Amino acid sequence: MNFELKIMGTASAMPISDRNPSAQVLSVHGRLFLIDCAEGTQQQIRRAHLSFLKIEAVFITHIHGDHVFGLFGLLSTMAMYGRTAPLYIYGPQALGSVLKFYSSFFADGSNFEVVFTPVSCSAPTMVHESKNVKVQAFPLNHKIECYGYRFDGIPSERHPDVPSYAYCSDTAPFEALSSFVKGVKVLYHEATYPAEMKDKAAFRYHSTTRDAALCAKEAGVQTLLIGHYSSRITDFDSLLKECTDIFPQTVLCCDLMEMSI
Ligand SMILES: [Zn+2]
Ligand SMILES: [Zn+2]
Repeated sequence: MNFELKIMGTASAMPISDRNPSAQVLSVHGRLFLIDCAEGTQQQIRRAHLSFLKIEAVFITHIHGDHVFGLFGLLSTMAMYGRTAPLYIYGPQALGSVLKFYSSFFADGSNFEVVFTPVSCSAPTMVHESKNVKVQAFPLNHKIECYGYRFDGIPSERHPDVPSYAYCSDTAPFEALSSFVKGVKVLYHEATYPAEMKDKAAFRYHSTTRDAALCAKEAGVQTLLIGHYSSRITDFDSLLKECTDIFPQTVLCCDLMEMSI
């Protein structure tokens, strides 16, 4: 069994000419799981040749625009495509009010149910179980309530070795985080700032390259993916080097990058 990961966006805060803000699609045996849904996600889904109708669930980390502004357009397009299957959405409690606003103004003619389940946890907690994968949420340390998500394949007799993936964006470093993502095959961890901007990172509850690499090392993952770059970053080679000096198996994500896990 493989997970196929497609990165929709790697910018932080706002879209720039060659980067969209946060969204990723994890494909598990044809079922799609959308993680965050920034502005521009719909176009990126089209560019990645993925089907809107195959999205089974959406996992939102927190209610900052660069993680959620694409949700209204996505729901609207699903309705226009005649979706009837329920769509499961997970995220902080406040997302419920955002979805209510959407349904009171824009959901006329929509024939599918949005099943929203608020996430509220202080330790890893199971939120969604599908045919081949189970998904846990875990708390992050950001300016507002924020959760990461961990996807573990469910082993069977035919597929005893299963992939695992964890997504951490946005967060300041904290001790328990590496235990939440312990042993995953691939870890995505935000690296908004280079190491020298650690004060700014701390002030904004974000991580540096060094924080991401140390978390990957401590958690014993196989591969670290970094993204959510500040729009001020121009030297991506040094950004990567700051990570590989600590954790050699680091990959610098770019928009529309694909990876088999
Ligand atoms: Zn962000
Ligand atoms: Zn944020």
